[in-house]
Amino acid sequence: MFNKYSMLAIFSLFIFIIPTIVNSSIISNQPLNYKINPAFEKHLKNNKITYDLNDKILMRILSEYGAIFTTQPAIAPPYVIFPDESSVSKWQGSIKSEQKKMNGILVTLQSSAMKALIEAQTEAHKKALSITPNGTTASTRSYRDTAKLWRSRVDPGLSFHLRQKHISQEDVDRIKKLSPSQQIPEILKLESKGYFFSKSLDKSILYSVAAVGTSQHISMLALDVTEHANPNVRSLLANYGWFQTVVSDEPHFTYIGVTEDKLPTLGLKKVTKGDRVYWIPDIE
Ligand SMILES: [Zn+2]
Repeated sequence: MFNKYSMLAIFSLFIFIIPTIVNSSIISNQPLNYKINPAFEKHLKNNKITYDLNDKILMRILSEYGAIFTTQPAIAPPYVIFPDESSVSKWQGSIKSEQKKMNGILVTLQSSAMKALIEAQTEAHKKALSITPNGTTASTRSYRDTAKLWRSRVDPGLSFHLRQKHISQEDVDRIKKLSPSQQIPEILKLESKGYFFSKSLDKSILYSVAAVGTSQHISMLALDVTEHANPNVRSLLANYGWFQTVVSDEPHFTYIGVTEDKLPTLGLKKVTKGDRVYWIPDIE
């Protein structure tokens, strides 16, 4: 009934294929192994930030935007993801901030970040350069602003992926009914299949807008700069503690408040992309 070739085929099924399937299912159930730089971990601890190494979404957000937790002498936010509107307004109201009109746009920042920015602008002016806010929401944002921005990427993305038959109408309807924070895992799951939600639809939504409740702009320590493409402007901002800390978010600068040589000692690592340097949490 069985010739020697079919016996061989059955034999190899047991020896090679079945163990592979069993093995990969074991691997996928294992806890995720993130390695967090101890210096960075210390900043999280000092800011009373709790995190679960098995929470893929939280760890992703922390890896993308977490440089904010090393800021000094400014105040880091109390959450990786602000849960709602009231937590944001309550926290923003408790932090010392300053407002100044720049190029007709009202800029709001934590006091130390504002002071450093004005010093950088003064020096820029002497060098015939300028540092100006890129749009009306270039500095501090409310929870509602981040929710609005989030939806401005999610809704067109859903329509696009529906047209491309990447997702069903039922999925679109279901995702649209969720709150923005409930949408975060859904959108990231679709992106893991290669269906992206950035404005250009070719990269992650996180490189285009922050996940709702996570923006560094909520922390009053971020500024989107019009002249970001000028390397002299970038190095000038760096001299005053303003760095690029979100990879691929080109206009975006974050106030860390130290000189560049100190950044590795805070547990940040350097990522070079094109002619840009980004400093992000050293999490592997
Ligand atoms: Zn930004």
